[in-house]
Amino acid sequence: MLGYIRRRLVRSTLCKEDFKRVYRLLDIPAIEGDCGALCGHRCCQEYEPGVGMYLLPGEELMFSGRERWLRWSYKSAKHHDFPESWKGLVAFVMCNGTCPREKRPVQCRTFPLMPYISPQGQLSMRLDTLTGSLICPLVSNPERHPLKEEFLERALEAWSILIRDPLIRDDVVQQSRKLDEDESAPWRGLFT
Ligand code: SF4
Ligand code: SF4
Repeated sequence: MLGYIRRRLVRSTLCKEDFKRVYRLLDIPAIEGDCGALCGHRCCQEYEPGVGMYLLPGEELMFSGRERWLRWSYKSAKHHDFPESWKGLVAFVMCNGTCPREKRPVQCRTFPLMPYISPQGQLSMRLDTLTGSLICPLVSNPERHPLKEEFLERALEAWSILIRDPLIRDDVVQQSRKLDEDESAPWRGLFT
């Protein structure tokens, strides 16, 4: 990654060792067996045009920027859906649908979960109904496809490390309020 871009990225208080620990914790399948076999690896496909993932602030330390399976771009935090506390650029990556599994970003390792911070400030993990309802059988049919307890526990531990960074915490809070709003939306009643 070019030095002048790196200098303009949203700053993180986490170090590479923190991200290595998070990656290790999240190196575990979500269910017994290969969930990709249930859906044809839907979340790794371009299920809508231009879909990709944002790296967390500091997560770029886990990449050289020359990975042949990733296309990189950089988005202004101000002009995208990030908290006001985020100043600068955010790395956005698109993969080609396959990756060295040990290199996949935090977002891929966490899905189909998302971190949730309650209005009282308590961290927990929730099914990511914001992005997963229409693409992921683990989200749309959790009774049929229960997640492994160990995956849930490790995800919680990983995110308790990540939200030590106040900017990441701000983003989790913002996404959590969005989830609250989404869950109380009238159209959700159509699925119950
Ligand atoms: S997480 Fe969900 S969408 Fe992704 S491969 Fe597994 S079942 Fe499919
Ligand atoms: S980086 Fe890997 S796990 Fe993530 S979407 Fe791409 S192929 Fe799937």
